[in-house]
Amino acid sequence: MWPFNRKTQAEELALFSGALRRALGHPGCPVCRLVRESEERWIWTLLYEYTGDPRTHATFSRTLGLCSYHAWLMRRVVEGRRLMTPSGVARLYETVVRELKSQLAFPRRKRDGCPLCSYAVQTGERQAYFLARLLEGEEWRTAFSRSQGLCWPHLRALLPHAAREVRGWVIRDFTRRLESLERDLAELQRKQRYDVCEGLTPGEAGSWREALWRLGGMYYDRLVVGDDV
Ligand SMILES: [Zn+2]
Ligand SMILES: [Zn+2]
Repeated sequence: MWPFNRKTQAEELALFSGALRRALGHPGCPVCRLVRESEERWIWTLLYEYTGDPRTHATFSRTLGLCSYHAWLMRRVVEGRRLMTPSGVARLYETVVRELKSQLAFPRRKRDGCPLCSYAVQTGERQAYFLARLLEGEEWRTAFSRSQGLCWPHLRALLPHAAREVRGWVIRDFTRRLESLERDLAELQRKQRYDVCEGLTPGEAGSWREALWRLGGMYYDRLVVGDDV
């Protein structure tokens, strides 16, 4: 996918299963994490290798740069990664500034949407497709059951790609998680009443945070890919 070369589906599946194994060990939805890792990698590959590429400059001219969330992420990558200087951003955005100046003089058609938003949506879809394939196997189901499972947006993305039997299995898995979340949310409220003196379990104490990501997807306020990758 722009600006990077496509791999074959078998290569992508092999890469995805390695990455999924790691992501299942982290808190929260594994697909959210993998999408975010791809966004960070997209930014640093772009800044390391493509800031002189005419196609990249043409895309940035059409979109007038990134949306506010991805612009923030680009800033975090530049500030947070060793060996990353801001000159790549300067080079790309010099083109964007010049383009905007000319558009002010001669207003033109509607601009394209943020390229990293489209990349993130397509990445999430592809990963949901690969996850649906892997969940046909017992070994992956066991690993998935031990993880914190999917957020609702990524479950919704996975269902159309899943065979009927896999669909039944993930829906049962998600329903079990919702039932336990519902119990924890009720207990959190009950135990916070002034006349109840019972301690909260970790699941109950964190249930409101889980409800936020389970229903809406994960949000990371720091970089998730380290300098070693
Ligand atoms: Zn998710
Ligand atoms: Zn964006």
